[in-house]
Amino acid sequence: MTSEFDIISQYFSWNHKANSIHTAVGDDGAILIPPVGKQLVVTTDTLISDVHFPDNTPADAIAHKALAVNLSDLAAMGAEPEWFTLALTLPNTDPQWLEAFSQSLKKIASQYSIALIGGDTTSGSTLSITITAMGFAEPHHLLLRSTAQSGDLIYVSGLLGDAAAGLAMVQQRFSGQDNQHCIEQLNKPTPQLTIAHHLRGIASSCIDVSDGFLADLNHILKASQLGARIHLDQIPLSSTLQNIDHQEALNYALSGGDDYQLLFTIPQKHHANFKKICQQQDLLCYCVGQIDHSINGMITSQGKILNAKGFNHFLG
Ligand code: ADP
Ligand code: MG
Repeated sequence: MTSEFDIISQYFSWNHKANSIHTAVGDDGAILIPPVGKQLVVTTDTLISDVHFPDNTPADAIAHKALAVNLSDLAAMGAEPEWFTLALTLPNTDPQWLEAFSQSLKKIASQYSIALIGGDTTSGSTLSITITAMGFAEPHHLLLRSTAQSGDLIYVSGLLGDAAAGLAMVQQRFSGQDNQHCIEQLNKPTPQLTIAHHLRGIASSCIDVSDGFLADLNHILKASQLGARIHLDQIPLSSTLQNIDHQEALNYALSGGDDYQLLFTIPQKHHANFKKICQQQDLLCYCVGQIDHSINGMITSQGKILNAKGFNHFLG
């Protein structure tokens, strides 16, 4: 039998040289040195086997996704990643699984410069991974949901719907032209920290697309007490989704979850500057609509009502 302490020392005790860490894994608590003058942003996400990922998902994908979804939340808040904790519930102690999991976690953590500073390891019947990620932001660079303004342009940071199509492919409900690409989007989402960096001081609000474009836009609209007009013909679709039935493709893009793109608003006074930055930095962002105080909820350019719960609700 492998003990909890063997697992921690073998797989989750990494060396960090961060200036912000006094003591990390190994004591009763981590001792951290927050930078002066910045604000601390904290976010937690739990992934449970068979609820948040199919139980045949490879260990490396589970580790990547568990951290990526938390990094995506930090990106959506305008924060730079700094530390994270890992609470693991394991149904068994398969060394191959633990090795693949910890190597993949270490890889994405070093890619985005975030340090593992502690956690908890328990045994239980269902695999569950809870990560709490912490990051810092300048107070005037924070990106909130509640601060969109009427007239702001609505943007997304990349293609929508591929992860939801990937889930349908894994569950053998759907097969498309490039299954590999969609399943990769589902399993290994890219946290949009680079784009988030360029939104500071420019975007008026931001959220990451985890539940689906309409549901997440609705969070911004509710928090900002505004409505929006959406141009369905501007919703960015991959070639895989462009090659299937258009309504089905829009359904994945508007109501499918797990894209982890950023959805944000740009005030018109910053629009020219934002477009210049996108060009200079090679960022592919797509304008898909506009915030409008005279609209209640969400409508299409043709005036059809869009329902946050899903595209199907307004069809027909
Ligand atoms: P305690 O019993 O005092 O709560 P634990 O035995 O749970 O401490 O943990 C010992 C040390 O290992 C702590 O520093 C804790 O943060 C760290 N730790 C436990 N599990 C993990 C994990 N999965 N990843 C990283 N650090 C962990
Ligand atoms: Mg203790």
